[in-house]
Amino acid sequence: MRTIDSLDVKGRRVLVRADLNVPLDGDTITDDGRIRASVPTISDLAGRGARVIVCAHLGRPKGKVAPEFSLAPVAARLGELLGRPVAFASDVVGDSARAVAEGLADGEVALLENLRFEPGEESKDDETRGAFADKLASLAELYVGDGFGAVHRKHASVYDVPKRLPHAAGGLTVAEVEVLKKLTEEPARPYVVVLGGAKVSDKLGVIANLLGKVDRLLIGGGMAYTFLKAQGNEVGRSLLQEDQLDQVRGFIAEADKRGVELVLPVDVLAATEFAEDAEHEVVEATAIPADREGLDIGPRTRELFAGKLADAATVFWNGPMGVFEFDAFSGGTRAVAQALIDSDAFTVVGGGDSAAAVRKLGLPEDGFSHISTGGGASLEYLEGKTLPGLAALED
Ligand code: ADP
Ligand code: MG
Repeated sequence: MRTIDSLDVKGRRVLVRADLNVPLDGDTITDDGRIRASVPTISDLAGRGARVIVCAHLGRPKGKVAPEFSLAPVAARLGELLGRPVAFASDVVGDSARAVAEGLADGEVALLENLRFEPGEESKDDETRGAFADKLASLAELYVGDGFGAVHRKHASVYDVPKRLPHAAGGLTVAEVEVLKKLTEEPARPYVVVLGGAKVSDKLGVIANLLGKVDRLLIGGGMAYTFLKAQGNEVGRSLLQEDQLDQVRGFIAEADKRGVELVLPVDVLAATEFAEDAEHEVVEATAIPADREGLDIGPRTRELFAGKLADAATVFWNGPMGVFEFDAFSGGTRAVAQALIDSDAFTVVGGGDSAAAVRKLGLPEDGFSHISTGGGASLEYLEGKTLPGLAALED
């Protein structure tokens, strides 16, 4: 992949695909990690006299203009972090975008409105997507792919635009790929992966692939209950994906066959309801009451997981161990994060919610070797898939 150092950007309009998909509460940004991660590349280009046009998506407006998904608050925050004003276009490729792009002087920065307001961005139809990509590409002379969190999407701004403009990979993309390479090419052992989060189906592909690579696989979070159920336990009202039970049974057998140590929760915090202040108690993972749901791993599991991480040389962690958004159920996630911080291993955190959890819990970001901005993108890379956005930058 070419890097931005190889581009002669002075006085030229450079379209930067960034990942600015941050969590919002109304129009308040609750975690600006992704904006901060996108600053170095934008700053570098602007500093070299480029006319920088940033494009990004926010949430899932599904091809329609939806004010609650406007990037306007992000433009304001980006401006603060850059220490220079960011012009905001109120559309993606319309009159406003064109006027803003044409009005930029050397070293100035603009942000376009949410890419996903345009149906062409995510269209599965190559022609529809291509037509939108033509318009987007026409705003600039060069393209920089720095939205690592979106490189697993075959979207116009990720995949089609770099085919239309001279391009390079931004610094964030380069850094993310370097780390993922370390995890896939001869990782130092023991190699331990911790998976959690909400949906097993999101992570099945990666589990299948990792079973051939890791020494230990620790499973917590909402996905653990499908594993516990697959082993014959009742899980009450906990998150459960019935349709994945067979596949999960297959994983358990496969782990056994390959000598991969599969570690599941031994106790959980069982709550009366999904709520911040829900009544709850610690129960054995084999004895979850029928009317309760597990919202975090229990204290014995936290110790068990910390022990399994203590001697690791490489760790990849994706997915919170519990509903960390509720203080009462954030202890498991905190314990795993702390075990990574305490470890001498090469530690990588992947996943939007996992990274947000680290910051929300007030843990030091520099306690980890790397915190990835990409959830799905990192997982698909680890699955061994070709990521459209990276492939497009290779050409
Ligand atoms: P990431 O974004 O890091 O990849 P996911 O999106 O897969 O993580 O999952 C994050 C979500 O999983 C969080 O919102 C968290 O509340 C939820 N979660 C974790 N454990 C549980 C649980 N036991 N029950 C319900 N939801 C859970
Ligand atoms: Mg998530």
